[in-house]
Amino acid sequence: MNAKILETENVTVSFDGFKALNQLNFSMDVGELRVVIGPNGAGKTTFLDVITGKVQPTVGRVLFKGKNLRSLPEHQIARLGIGRKFQTPRIYLNLTPRENLEITSNSNKNVFSTLFGRPNAAEKNSIKGLLETIGLTSKSNIPAGLLSHGEKQRLEIGMLVAQSPDLLLVDEPVAGLTDEETYNIGELLLALSQSHSILVIEHDMEFVRQIARKVTVLHEGSVLCEGSFEEVQNDSRVIEVYLGQQQN
Ligand code: ADP
Ligand code: MG
Repeated sequence: MNAKILETENVTVSFDGFKALNQLNFSMDVGELRVVIGPNGAGKTTFLDVITGKVQPTVGRVLFKGKNLRSLPEHQIARLGIGRKFQTPRIYLNLTPRENLEITSNSNKNVFSTLFGRPNAAEKNSIKGLLETIGLTSKSNIPAGLLSHGEKQRLEIGMLVAQSPDLLLVDEPVAGLTDEETYNIGELLLALSQSHSILVIEHDMEFVRQIARKVTVLHEGSVLCEGSFEEVQNDSRVIEVYLGQQQN
């Protein structure tokens, strides 16, 4: 049996009695790229909130590499090796992509020592490699504010990787992107999945088809079904919940 990077056991999250997550049982293996889909309100964002410690489970446990995360504050969970990318990029617009990466890869230095101190050779090399991976080598020295929306998303994914997390959580990375930028993000996540465990939440079905290995469908706070893209796409329960949503 493969080692698990993430497990939830019977996780319920109640907001004033409303169960955003309802006895959710989920697990993914070390090294997996998993896509989680589900209609609006299915509990996808709450699922990430409960993994990162932003929200505590009302019932149940979340295990990261077998360790129970109960009661740990968000920053400690991040330090254990869980990195999260939010939907809107959170980058320093007046710094260059290179500087943005330097700042995040030096978690124990502050902004000023990063800018005015000298990165050592190993740091420089890894940042060069990361710029290549995210496709921003030619734009590494312009202000990040001049990047397109898709390039900013790639930079932020790079900043996440610079923190060397064991598990990357990525919430709707292609919302609002052009088809070409969407494709680039997909290729980037596929490249990163060679060396990271990645959990992606997404709505865009073309994108899911591009990157999907195993797909989990959430509905009303529980797992509705799991399988390959084709399997979940043809599952009558999945068709029903998505069609139900379109009629609203
Ligand atoms: P998704 O990301 O799949 O669209 P969410 O996890 O954001 O779904 O929300 C799941 C359900 O929980 C929704 O019905 C939402 O209104 C509700 N919900 C989420 N967060 C809160 C909160 N802090 N208080 C009350 N209800 C919430
Ligand atoms: Mg959401």
